[in-house]
Amino acid sequence: MPPLEALTREAARLAGATPAEAEADRMLTICNACRYCEGFCAVFPAMTRRLTFPRADIHYLANLCHNCGACLFACQYAPPHEFAVAIPQALSRVRTETWSAYAWPGALGALYRRAGLTIALALGLGLALFLVLAVALNGALIHAPMQGNFYAVFPHGLLVGIFAPVFGFACLALAVGAVRFWRLDAPGAIGGAALAEATHAALTLKYLDGGHGLGCNEDDDRFTRARRHAHHLTFYGFLLCFASTSVATLYHYGFGWQAPYALTSLPVLLGTLGGVGLLIGPAGLWWLNRRRHPLKAAPEQSALDMGFIALLFLVSLTGLLLLALRDTGAMALFLAIHLGFVLAFFLTMPYGKFAHGLYRGVALLKWAVEKRLPSRLRLKSD
Ligand code: SF4
Ligand code: SF4
Repeated sequence: MPPLEALTREAARLAGATPAEAEADRMLTICNACRYCEGFCAVFPAMTRRLTFPRADIHYLANLCHNCGACLFACQYAPPHEFAVAIPQALSRVRTETWSAYAWPGALGALYRRAGLTIALALGLGLALFLVLAVALNGALIHAPMQGNFYAVFPHGLLVGIFAPVFGFACLALAVGAVRFWRLDAPGAIGGAALAEATHAALTLKYLDGGHGLGCNEDDDRFTRARRHAHHLTFYGFLLCFASTSVATLYHYGFGWQAPYALTSLPVLLGTLGGVGLLIGPAGLWWLNRRRHPLKAAPEQSALDMGFIALLFLVSLTGLLLLALRDTGAMALFLAIHLGFVLAFFLTMPYGKFAHGLYRGVALLKWAVEKRLPSRLRLKSD
């Protein structure tokens, strides 16, 4: 083990920090003296408002980092330099820890962190198989075409009874995590301008532009906007699918219009567009993650990334197949498979990569509030 890393681990042991936190602390302290990357993203200006980096600050900076890679390829102290500064990897390692540190219930967060990809796939396949068997035992797996009437296979009340509590639990767990993260060294009251700025930064993924607008670095010093586009397709694809379900709920309860809806109806159009986004976006993220430089992210984050990407892709793929086959005798089979993956996605939402969007949003809000306040350092220039 290099001497610097050995020293860091010893300091961490003494201070009660995790090795990942101590390593991030060491690198951020070097950056705070260097400050070459100040214009790249929000992490560096937020860093210069501090002289030391207690755990709350490291967690905040880790989630403020968008993993664009700019500071890795610009750094004169990156490996093989003996300082071994690799900010994207160090912050990625801490970020992964925070997803379980703030998760509720904590035990589920810790479990998912240990085996995210395995749990995501096992849960998705297990629930899909369970629902397929349930339909088969009812004798409805092979059937005459039903004109896309899902409720003939799973009655509407049964679907609401299963999905509403699971989705409600996921939202509650995410909200508890976000509030815990905000409360840890909350910067102050949230003003309208700060909220608007943070929302804009989150919706446009401002900090995936590398600080110069040309995009991220993946495996070398070339810039690419591919990661930003893949994130946007994933994020807006998810929002379109959510909008599709919301409109369908309004049709059902507000107007009494029962599914199935026509291919040209608003819920189906929104769902189809969202589904296509959720196929291309996660596939793009998978491709980018496989070729990104090893110092850009911690291996443990990659496993969680892949669990999230795989589930989103399978939810979308099975959803689009279900739409294509809804007028055939295979509808019940594909409906059961699709619902199994959707359930698995909802159950894992609060504990892995999905939660990163929420924590990153909270970190952006913290930054938008903090930058409007006088620096706590009160140096001469303040
Ligand atoms: S990442 Fe490297 S170049 Fe950038 S501020 Fe830190 S030490 Fe300096
Ligand atoms: S990887 Fe990008 S977003 Fe993260 S600290 Fe470096 S420059 Fe900032």
